[in-house]
Amino acid sequence: MEDPRHAGFLHNTHSFFHRGLNQMPWYRDLELERHGAVYLEPEFNVALILKGGQVLEWWTSFEKTVESFARFSRRDAETLQQWRERFLPIVQKILIPESQSPPVPLDRRRTLLERSPEGRLLMEVSALSPLEFVLKEFEHPVIQAGLLFFNGLREVDLRCNGLGHHIPTLLASTSKAQMCRGGSEALARALTAAVQESGGEIKLQAQPRRIIVENGRVAGVETGAGNVFRAQHFVASGLNPQQTFLELLEETWVPREWRERAQNFRYNLIAPLFALNLNLNDPPSYRAAEQNPQLESAFMVILGLEHFEQFPELVRHHEAGTIPPTVMWGSCPTRFDPAQAPPGKHTAFMWEKLPYRLRGNPANWDSEKESHGKAMLELWTEYAPNLKQAVLDWFVRTPLDTERTFPNMREGDLLVGTFARGQIGYHRPFPGAGHYRGHLPGLYLCGGCCHPGGNITGLAGYNSAQVILADLGLSAPWAPTSAEECLKRL
Ligand SMILES: Cc1cc2nc3c(=O)[nH]c(=O)nc-3n(C[C@H](O)[C@H](O)[C@H](O)COP(=O)(O)OP(=O)(O)OC[C@H]3O[C@@H](n4cnc5c(N)ncnc54)[C@H](O)[C@@H]3O)c2cc1C
Repeated sequence: MEDPRHAGFLHNTHSFFHRGLNQMPWYRDLELERHGAVYLEPEFNVALILKGGQVLEWWTSFEKTVESFARFSRRDAETLQQWRERFLPIVQKILIPESQSPPVPLDRRRTLLERSPEGRLLMEVSALSPLEFVLKEFEHPVIQAGLLFFNGLREVDLRCNGLGHHIPTLLASTSKAQMCRGGSEALARALTAAVQESGGEIKLQAQPRRIIVENGRVAGVETGAGNVFRAQHFVASGLNPQQTFLELLEETWVPREWRERAQNFRYNLIAPLFALNLNLNDPPSYRAAEQNPQLESAFMVILGLEHFEQFPELVRHHEAGTIPPTVMWGSCPTRFDPAQAPPGKHTAFMWEKLPYRLRGNPANWDSEKESHGKAMLELWTEYAPNLKQAVLDWFVRTPLDTERTFPNMREGDLLVGTFARGQIGYHRPFPGAGHYRGHLPGLYLCGGCCHPGGNITGLAGYNSAQVILADLGLSAPWAPTSAEECLKRL
């Protein structure tokens, strides 16, 4: 969005880091580049800057990442290489196909995985928590912290068993952090153009009031303004389970057990974000760049993280609703795409994970946001002293603002549902609804509350479309080989 107080300064107040987006199958199928989307993938992908000025680096070149790890610990660099080699086939043959298809029922999945060495290794590592995996495999505190943060904490609860594969998966992943030229909004514009070209229409500012059910079948949607959109074949809800099953459907149409399961759908305690956005005369110039000039070209920068013990502390603060010592990450988009600010000017932002219920009440954010924004800026300035003069203006967005803007991101959970409590794969959002189908004919789910979860991946919608077309008896020539078939071929 454009800063309403400063013309020409664009800010990505929603998502910014889009992992491997231009490798997504729907991105190719919808020909989004023809519709104007351009993705940038800076080579110096992530920098964890320590107080003392050392930097742990992730590059699009795996060899350069290994070199950086080796400067901290030769043994950890070797471990990184070994896990990457072992996990690369798992990512390519199992995890990517699984993320791009409706999930396989759990028992069936287990049986198929047990048949191959790759499948067995995946199950063995998954049984751990990301925390257990990293502490078992890596020795250096900075590497442990960096892996857990960059490869774990942003997505999952690090203490959760069943998610241990997250770290090696991301170590082996060839998808790096990317940004959309022109701002993340440019992706939405390209998608809109693709929808319109194929005869679709997008209605903005429409508040759904109820899902219409006729003769036991979903028949359309009525908006708060009283407009009725009748569905010829189906309604697909991109909202969360409470919205879909408890708010939009009349109680009589939802069986008690579905109501209870929707009611019990849980959100991610540690997902909410606090954002500090800056308008700048100059980009942040990090003190650490004096020794490491390449740092000027680092895409994602992490600050305030020195050792892994900060994670349990962070979780404790989230549980208590208090503000932990700051760990933050962000970028200066205009270093890569100058058009996101007026000529010669810049924008930059930092995100911090902070509790939704600040001291027990999310409303406290409204009175405390400015002071926290100032504290973040002070800390940022310790790492990048030029910010003292360079800042033209700034504003913040709180976890409560996230929920206000996106009611589906309940409790500020931008992943739309925790990955704990069995809310994954075939059981996401809950058992019975894990295949994008609601309980009524014609009702489907397609948002981040479904497999494979939140983030800008487009895959929940992609997978839901596969199920809908199959139910309608229509062929989907674009659909990939099913996850079950891929697992059978292992
Ligand atoms: C500040 C922030 C930063 C993020 N950064 C990243 C990032 O860098 N990388 C990344 O991959 N992901 C990021 N995310 C997460 C990502 O945006 C979400 O996980 C993803 O958008 C979820 O997709 P979805 O389709 O489920 O929901 P959405 O994309 O939120 O789509 C649901 C739509 O429904 C609308 N809606 C909801 N309720 C109602 C209602 N009652 N009436 C009318 N409309 C309604 C919403 O406004 C929204 O337009 C970020 C999110 C936030 C908030």
